Amino acid sequence: MRRSKAFIPTSKEAPSDAQLASHIFLARAGFTSQVASGLYNYLPLGKRVIKKIENIINEEMEAIDAQELELSFVTPSDLWKESGRFDKFGSELLRFKDRKNNDFVLGPTHEEMMVNVVRDKITSYKQLPINLYQIKTKFRDEARPRFGLMRGREFIMKDAYSFHSSAEDLDREFNAVENAYKKILTRLGLEFRVVEADSGAIGGSGSKELMVISDSGEDTIAICDTCEYGANVEAAVRQNVEISSEAPEAEFNKFKTPNIKTMDELSEFFSVDKAYLVKSVAARAMYDDSDEIVLFFLRGDDNLQDVKAANSLGANEIVEIAESDLEKVGLVSGFMGPLDMDKVKIVLDNSLKDAKNMICGANESDFHYVGVDMSVMSEANFADIYEVKEGDTCRCGGKLFYKKGIEVGHIFKLGTTYSAPLKANFLDEQGRSQPFIMGTYGMGVSRLMASVVEQHHDDKGCIWTKSTAPYLVNIMISNIKDSDQVALGEKLYEELKNNGVEVVLDDRKDRFGFKMKDAELIGFPYTVIIGKELANGNVQIYTRSTCEKMDVSSSNIYNKVMELV
Ligand code: ATP
Ligand code: MG
Repeated sequence: MRRSKAFIPTSKEAPSDAQLASHIFLARAGFTSQVASGLYNYLPLGKRVIKKIENIINEEMEAIDAQELELSFVTPSDLWKESGRFDKFGSELLRFKDRKNNDFVLGPTHEEMMVNVVRDKITSYKQLPINLYQIKTKFRDEARPRFGLMRGREFIMKDAYSFHSSAEDLDREFNAVENAYKKILTRLGLEFRVVEADSGAIGGSGSKELMVISDSGEDTIAICDTCEYGANVEAAVRQNVEISSEAPEAEFNKFKTPNIKTMDELSEFFSVDKAYLVKSVAARAMYDDSDEIVLFFLRGDDNLQDVKAANSLGANEIVEIAESDLEKVGLVSGFMGPLDMDKVKIVLDNSLKDAKNMICGANESDFHYVGVDMSVMSEANFADIYEVKEGDTCRCGGKLFYKKGIEVGHIFKLGTTYSAPLKANFLDEQGRSQPFIMGTYGMGVSRLMASVVEQHHDDKGCIWTKSTAPYLVNIMISNIKDSDQVALGEKLYEELKNNGVEVVLDDRKDRFGFKMKDAELIGFPYTVIIGKELANGNVQIYTRSTCEKMDVSSSNIYNKVMELV
């Protein structure tokens, strides 16, 4: 590509709301432009990077015998009603009517559509297994689109769906896809972890997320310093905590605790380890078409994990609640406890089961109970609702620590969650009709492009890896009026192009300094600088990842570049 003919609108100005390097540099270097909140154009350079990522995905999916197809973006609401997700998906699902008053949605994911494609076409176990995927625009009307391509409303996803006649075969495919996804991320030059994930409302028997490690990630993952264990904090577990400090032994009693409300104040007041305090967290649980106030109880040194809390109730999510709403139902904020709580539903963390010598709120202003034996509550609703903390002990005995991650992929053993309601069945070996056993495997293609920049940039701009660069080589003619410089530039450009190297010839009339800054901002892996030194038979190769310049004899430049690329 001749730079003089290219549309690469670079700019000094970053978008005003941009915080992340990827958001700033993809915009400044002319890879993307924003249309509206969460909507982006892929400009020529951005489109090239997307295609590179897609090619790698296609190769690795082909290697595990998955087949590409493409489903309609506009999907009939009826399918979503059949699966029961029409209501569940909430306002992220963009709904509309056509001129004949038929209801449609823009596909935010395509489980229903894919089941619809195979049902009645795959009818026998002999036609299984099968894995079908597409790389396609998705639309989710995200509540807070942000961070550029990281969380768009319209974005590109690679979504695969597999169909099986047995759970064992799904396990096999799940592992194969996990391996393929790992290869994709490795080829893209990304540092990542595969972690256990929350299977949430969709259910199913297991799910894993592929997390690109980055301080700018929105997800927190707990990783073990000893074993392979890694999990999203939404799902992370630890070894049962053993409390070493002395128990505050006391007869069961109501104790005056004037205005002592927080865990810190209580622990100081009684001089006890917070593990002997019962912490209460009030929240509103949100269901498809109802909601309720729920009290969650944990050890005083633990925090509530919202996703685990919602799962413990089968709720879609839990949300914060105002103190005034608690008062309305007769709860005494700061002094709430689980004993005889009959005003709202309660859930207790498993670590409180049979705990002795505990201190908890007495549901009366300025009073707590001491010497509480939690075994009196053995009939109550217990669940794992704690959030793993840094320093907690892994089940292997190692220590857990936190990292931030960008979720670039989510793979899921679905079972019959969609095939059963959509009545997508096959005949098994015994001739019985069974719903397909399914897996679903999503990967964020546009989010991957941003992730590459997040992990590969400096203060000057993007640093594309060889496998993701829009062009590998940039040939810079420093002075366009120097005919020798132009002649070498043109010759090298033709030679590289003819040998399949993706190359840009910067033949613009602008100053050298300006063009160099531009090359650094865009992040071509290599820039050949043809400058004054050509008179002495020398040119330079600038390597973007190290910012180093290497002198090369002009007669040898073609060979040198070919060696590098
Ligand atoms: P998140 O928790 O980040 O919202 P999700 O759990 O909703 O993600 P999935 O439904 O599993 O995501 O979708 C599969 C993949 O699609 C994700 O792993 C992610 O890489 C990508 N993805 C999801 N939502 C977006 C978005 N709004 N913008 C860009 N990519 C997205
Ligand atoms: Mg989401």
